[in-house]
Amino acid sequence: MPAKQVLIVGGGSAGWMAAAYLDAALNRDGRHVVDISLVESPEVPRIGVGEATVPHINHILAVVGINQHEFMRRVDGTFKQSIRYVGWLHGRSEFYHHPFTRYRPTPLDHSGLRWLESNRSIPFTETVSAQPVICELGLAPQMLGPWDFGAPLTYAYHMNAQKFADYLCELSTARGVRHLRDHVVEVELEENGDIAAVKTRGGERLEAELYIDCSGFAALLIEKALGVGWVDCSKWLLCDRAVTMHVPYERHYPGYVRPYTTATALSAGWVWEIPLQDKRSLGYVHASAFVDDEAAERELRSFEGPHAESLDARVVPFKVGHREKVWVRNCIAIGLAGNFIEPLESTGLYLSDLATVLLAEHFPYRGDMTPLRYRFNRIMANRFYEILDFINMHYCLTQRGDTAFWREVRQPSRIHERLQAKLDYWRIKPPSPSDFEDMFLPGQPDMPLPTAGTPGDHRSPIDNGRLFGVDSYEAILYGMDFLREECARWYGEQRPPTRVAQVVAQRLAAAPQKLPPHDMWLQRSSGMPRYGAATAANR
Ligand SMILES: Cc1cc2nc3c(=O)[nH]c(=O)nc-3n(C[C@H](O)[C@H](O)[C@H](O)COP(=O)(O)OP(=O)(O)OC[C@H]3O[C@@H](n4cnc5c(N)ncnc54)[C@H](O)[C@@H]3O)c2cc1C
Repeated sequence: MPAKQVLIVGGGSAGWMAAAYLDAALNRDGRHVVDISLVESPEVPRIGVGEATVPHINHILAVVGINQHEFMRRVDGTFKQSIRYVGWLHGRSEFYHHPFTRYRPTPLDHSGLRWLESNRSIPFTETVSAQPVICELGLAPQMLGPWDFGAPLTYAYHMNAQKFADYLCELSTARGVRHLRDHVVEVELEENGDIAAVKTRGGERLEAELYIDCSGFAALLIEKALGVGWVDCSKWLLCDRAVTMHVPYERHYPGYVRPYTTATALSAGWVWEIPLQDKRSLGYVHASAFVDDEAAERELRSFEGPHAESLDARVVPFKVGHREKVWVRNCIAIGLAGNFIEPLESTGLYLSDLATVLLAEHFPYRGDMTPLRYRFNRIMANRFYEILDFINMHYCLTQRGDTAFWREVRQPSRIHERLQAKLDYWRIKPPSPSDFEDMFLPGQPDMPLPTAGTPGDHRSPIDNGRLFGVDSYEAILYGMDFLREECARWYGEQRPPTRVAQVVAQRLAAAPQKLPPHDMWLQRSSGMPRYGAATAANR
């Protein structure tokens, strides 16, 4: 069988992840089944802001054959074990963690219920996971020598996404992926409406059987050529811009590298703090209807402190939503061309990564693509709404009323009906694993997907819980004080003190002897330079 011709348009992290993964996953065991070319404009920069990931990234790295140490060196990577949410509930310095690792007693896990019955003297996730305290202690999730600290700690990475794309480009081209630096100016269609070729400013006419649109928000193929609509979701997630800034350690090293992402709520959104090996990346994700860019930039500078005054800031507009279908005809949109949800739970790269992995599984080697397209679109839509609900929940449970933005996000009209059904159900019965069986709870709206391209499929999207399951929901719900009033009624005001699971306490007692400080791990295992601690105030 001749190799299938695939053309990827766009060389951001989505484009290069697709190129590297498809090549590694499909052209293996001596087979050569796809010929991959990637065209990338020298005129249009990638988004790349300094990004946080979720543990799924480890799958891509493993399949592409990337060694962890080398990866971290190449992308200025650091470990991410949790997201620390600051000020989301009351707008003060209160915080909670959403860690990746959770202890689950078998066969029955009642830790959520036990916590609800207790006096909440210890934050929920600290009772079921050692990772929040490991994070607060600034420890790495890996040892310097061989691992002998029991069950592994789950982690993802913070990385420079520009360098990630460059690294994947280098690997892929060395393995045979063709790379062109040229600007696409036209997309030619067949009579039947399929894409026939793309034309470039440099005079090339590039033909393929399958086209992958990774052109970012420009969406050159899927939208401009094929006219596939965008389903806007800004009603539930109000933020539409970020002011970003890099704080180089040469100028200001706070004295440590946090092994987690911080998301601090500000007046009209939140700011990410992503530690890399050479700098911290900051971004104030905000809603332009509530704060303009200049005021947002001032707020970000004042959040960071006086040393931020001389640093450059950049505004990155974005839109939250998804294509009606991400795979239409012979074109698949991956990355920002296909969908985007604001970066609160670091799901941007994940959605590109998921689409790439799914495409390898549903690759159209032969015959009719229709059934493959249908399944691919259905799964991507399921996952999009699973993430949308989850991010929506972070906002709508706030008790802040100090600014118009925080008053607005609590309004019933800003809560997706799917999420509202979950919250209503969990006020009757707190979340438990079986809720995630098909994630269609009483009161959930009928919401047939535009992806229902197969006769008879009128189903709403469902969560399969593989990305944000009961552990994640409990972390956010209880971090945001969900069911406080109900528990006072159910269990009375005088309740037993909260207890930490014994296994968690034992792990924590041993952690400082076993796990090195995060920056020490990075210096010894990943070549991070030593910086002098700055005198400016540490937060
Ligand atoms: C504010 C913000 C913060 C984010 N934070 C995170 C995070 O913390 N974690 C996370 O996982 N994700 C995050 N993301 C998402 C992440 O940045 C994207 O998912 C990722 O960069 C993929 O982008 P992309 O490759 O689709 O698009 P881009 O990076 O925009 O790349 C587009 C590519 O298309 C090319 N192109 C455009 N026009 C043409 C043309 N005419 N001809 C040829 N080529 C063309 C460009 O040259 C470029 O190579 C964030 C996104 C934003 C907006």
